[in-house]
Order: sequence, then C-alpha cells, then structure tokens
Amino acid sequence: MSEHKVKLVTASGLMRNCGHPRLLGKRRIRTASQLKALDRGNLFQDACWPFVLGKTAAPVPVNDSMVNKWAETFRQVWVHRPGVLVELPLGLSPVGRHVEVLEPRPHEYEAADGFSLLLTAGRADIAWTERHGDLLIAVILDVKTGRFAPERPASNPQIWSLGLSFADRVGAQALRVGLYYARTGAFDWYPGADEFVRLDSEEAAQRWDDVTNLAMLDEEPRPGPWCDSCWEKNHCPEAVTAA
Ligand code: SF4
Repeated sequence: MSEHKVKLVTASGLMRNCGHPRLLGKRRIRTASQLKALDRGNLFQDACWPFVLGKTAAPVPVNDSMVNKWAETFRQVWVHRPGVLVELPLGLSPVGRHVEVLEPRPHEYEAADGFSLLLTAGRADIAWTERHGDLLIAVILDVKTGRFAPERPASNPQIWSLGLSFADRVGAQALRVGLYYARTGAFDWYPGADEFVRLDSEEAAQRWDDVTNLAMLDEEPRPGPWCDSCWEKNHCPEAVTAA
C-alpha cells in the first residue's frame, strides 16, 4: 500500500483533540447493540434511497419496524429535487481539490487514478446542486440514525470535508451543509435551509484549515478534558475522568 493510503483519514474519522478513538474503534470488537445500530443505519438507506432517487413513491418497507417508522417520518419531510445523488464517494486532496475515489472495501478509500494524494475521503449520504442567481450552490446532507449527538453542521468536519470536495467536483461557488436526524425527523442546516457559505469567504477558508488540521492529527492518545465526551473512554487506559 502506498504512503498516502496509509495516512488517509476518512471523513467520519476526523476528530477533535484526540485521534486515538479511531485506533480503538478499529481494534475493538463491536457489541451486539453497536452492530444493531449499524444495521439500522444501513436499513434506513435501503428503505429511503430509492425514494430519494424518485424510483419509488414511498420508502421501501424493511424488516425492522423502528426503521420503517423513521422512513415514514422521512417521507413526510423530504422534498424531491432533480439530480439528487446518494452514497456518493468523495475524496479531498491536500490542496482542497476533489479526487475521484474507489472504495474497494467498506470505509477504505483510494484514488481512482491510483496516484492522486488524498487528505480525506468518505461517502456523502445525499448531495445535490442548486442555482441562486449566478451562483451554483453545492448541498451536502448527512443522515444520522444513532443516538449520539454529532458536532453541529457549522463546524462538523465530516460534512465540511465532503462538502468542499463535492463543491469542487461540480464547480460550485458556494456550499450548504446539513444533518438529518432520522429519530426525530429534524434537519439541521448551516448556515440555513435556503442559505449558503461562499467558497471564497474567510469562513470557508477557516473550515478548510480545520479539516486539514484534523486530518493531520495522528492516533496517539491525547488525554484531556475532552475524554469525558469520548465514546471510547471506557476502553481507553489513558482516559482522564472528571474529578
Ligand atoms: S478517552 Fe481521551 S485519550 Fe482516550 S481516546 Fe478518548 S479522548 Fe483520547
């Protein structure tokens, strides 16, 4: 494997303060409840992606009543749009350019051309473009089915890294990023449902710097006050617990 593939951090693995949870997560055998949660995420996609793509009039029923309930909620709030893409693999180069990627194994990415450098890569759940006057807006939406509250879209490095890649891919001048919480049917857009951040703005530059810095964070333990909110703290011998 070439060096750039070893150093690549997936978009969902971009973490603040400490990159050690990535390593612990890879080593640890998942519990039955964690596997169930992952299954439900996949089932939600099986149920809803045909509907998002306009192939079915409603989500496809799956063998999980909870997921079917989430899917029905989604049906009620989703607005159909032309040209929507789902499960779109996106890579981002060390200079912030889009890179076509392949995913030969789940959550493992490599440049499709075999040589382009990758800073991060991942899959966008849902992506599309919109026009606002002369501006082309790239829109990225990540669906969350778990109980864990992710970082809000204003600074969430996963969706910003995917969004910056998608924006470059389509030649957009602006970006909107969002999360959808399947358990509640709520959207959380940044900067707002009909708003956008211009890619030539100071704010977009700060988000790019943030993604770059987090991608550089290695997997050494860095204990600190943030251990309290780390989901791997019960499996980490270095964890600092609050007094
Ligand atoms: S408990 Fe603290 S040191 Fe351990 S992985 Fe989590 S953040 Fe890092």
